[in-house]
Amino acid sequence: LVSRENHPERSTVRVGGVPIGPDTVTLIAGPCAVETPRQTLEAAEMAKAAGATLLRGGAFKPRTSPYAFQGLGEEGLRILADVREKTGLPIVTEVVDAHDVELVASYADMLQIGTRNTQNFALLQAVGKAGKPVMLKRGMSGTIEEWLMSAEYIAQRGNLDIVLCERGIRTFETATRNTLDVSAVPVAQRLSHLPVIIDPSHSGGRRDLVLPLTRAAVAVGADGVIIDVHPHPEQALCDGPQALVNGDLRELARVMRQFPPLL
Ligand code: PEP
Repeated sequence: LVSRENHPERSTVRVGGVPIGPDTVTLIAGPCAVETPRQTLEAAEMAKAAGATLLRGGAFKPRTSPYAFQGLGEEGLRILADVREKTGLPIVTEVVDAHDVELVASYADMLQIGTRNTQNFALLQAVGKAGKPVMLKRGMSGTIEEWLMSAEYIAQRGNLDIVLCERGIRTFETATRNTLDVSAVPVAQRLSHLPVIIDPSHSGGRRDLVLPLTRAAVAVGADGVIIDVHPHPEQALCDGPQALVNGDLRELARVMRQFPPLL
């Protein structure tokens, strides 16, 4: 279903009216985690001012440590919905448990499946039935084939509005949190008709790498990027070291606009 063999045209997925696909390079930005109404609104205003057309923000956070901030849950979804109302930006937010899909889908414009859940097949099947577009991250130790098979699980339940997101894979390298596999973009685009975007924030895990990795994303033909921003990264409850502040995000958007969309 997701293969390009039977569907030679590359697809465009619309999220609350915003296209992600071959004719554009979509900028998605927002906080890694929803922490407070004010922090979320400030981050969304930064995103919008820079030219982002979709807002990201985690209410359910899949953290490596059980002692780390786990997200605000439904309260975070309510904050996101309120910020959407104020800014007009459609929301992309993660769902980590099949039992929460209905709840998250009732607030979100796009459901995100994180790297740790790429092969959570019950969750994939549940989002396949939820009636909302899905952003499917690549598993940090998953092959491109496995990633596409995960997309197939979603598509099989009737949902073809899927965007693939390369977010770095685990390698021997320790200088970056994960190694961004830029080759995954053209490879996945040739194998599948689905749009492919890059997450330079979670792949590098470092603010200073976000701009260079975004250049790489655009140059390799990614259909968009998803970027962490925070009004006060030093106070962030989640992934502060990779969050961009206002000036950085504007510069990133300026650099992105210099590239014509690659077909
Ligand atoms: C995220 O985007 O909030 C996130 C946790 O990403 P990943 O699943 O790629 O680690």
